[in-house]
Amino acid sequence: MSGARLIGSLRYRDFRYPKNHPLRVPRVSLLLEFLQAEGLIRDEEKVESRFATLEELLLFHSREYVEALMEADRCMCVPRGARERFNIGTYENPVSPATFRGSSLATGSSVQAVDLFLDGYRPFNPAGGMHHAFRDRANGFCFINDPGVAIEVLKRRGFRRILYVDLDAHHCDGVQEAYYDTDEVYVVSFHQSPEYAFPFRTGYLHERGEGRGKGFNLNVPMPEGLNDNEFLYILERVLGYLRDVFMPEVYLLQLGTDLLKEDYLSRFEITNRGFLEAFRLVREAFGEGIYLGGGGYHPIALVRAWTLIWCEMSGRRAPERVGVAGRKVLESVDWEEFDDEVDRSYMYELLLDPRGGGPVRQEVKDLVLRVKTEVYS
Ligand SMILES: [Zn+2]
Repeated sequence: MSGARLIGSLRYRDFRYPKNHPLRVPRVSLLLEFLQAEGLIRDEEKVESRFATLEELLLFHSREYVEALMEADRCMCVPRGARERFNIGTYENPVSPATFRGSSLATGSSVQAVDLFLDGYRPFNPAGGMHHAFRDRANGFCFINDPGVAIEVLKRRGFRRILYVDLDAHHCDGVQEAYYDTDEVYVVSFHQSPEYAFPFRTGYLHERGEGRGKGFNLNVPMPEGLNDNEFLYILERVLGYLRDVFMPEVYLLQLGTDLLKEDYLSRFEITNRGFLEAFRLVREAFGEGIYLGGGGYHPIALVRAWTLIWCEMSGRRAPERVGVAGRKVLESVDWEEFDDEVDRSYMYELLLDPRGGGPVRQEVKDLVLRVKTEVYS
């Protein structure tokens, strides 16, 4: 068996975050509509998402926390004490249909991705990658840590050398915390330095794990304004070092699109061509993996980028230009740029950005040297 599989659902439309939340925008449903309109997906490549079971959620999360999420879903309110105890019901992590049902659907999909992968398919769950959620606390728009649940499923299937690679613009604090003291899961994250970006407290290079997990956690905190050349310079080298010290039996890849230059929640200058090349580098280093989505707050940028990922993994040549039907889908999104000084009309015409240039700054070279020293120490 083989072939690429996109695990998704139009039901995510019903599980939106509340108005004014960055995750209010359509993402997975928009991707499905766009691929359909552009003729880039066949029916047999689509897998309808399912909800996670309670048992699956409890592989990673505490029962008290999951019950609070379920209670919030039943009453569409903040359960008593939940704000203080579980960080639910804040501006960042508000109560909405996304709190439990949307998150559970995304998590069931990550378990489906594991199952499909083990059956020989190449799975992509664009709703997954909610890497900030802690065992008993919501964090950074994330309620259920679907990568963590997927890792727990893999562990129960007997895997003992699991790699988790995270390309999201933000440090994967929820995943790091859960696997900080184990040598069975190597967590590596490339992100904006916490010196200037969420989650601020974690994501530094010196966080290398503890106990049996010492040396099995690696953070690559990158500077503002990172360009394609710098991003690929870092990735190519660091993935090479990693291969020297840890050959995984299986890996998961978090593909948040908030690292793109159009995304207003990050400060990188990375094009979707740079993002696509990063995906290629990871696959060259470790073969096929379990592909998950992640952050991404500019719906048009997100759909263009994940379309490129889907085309690459399903062996399609991505069209250079957005077609008429695809453009209609993009234009249907209720979305306005925050900064109306910038002209982003190209996003509705071209699918693939021109390669971004730029020099590799000395601080980037220095960072890679420090990472190298850490990995081999
Ligand atoms: Zn992010």
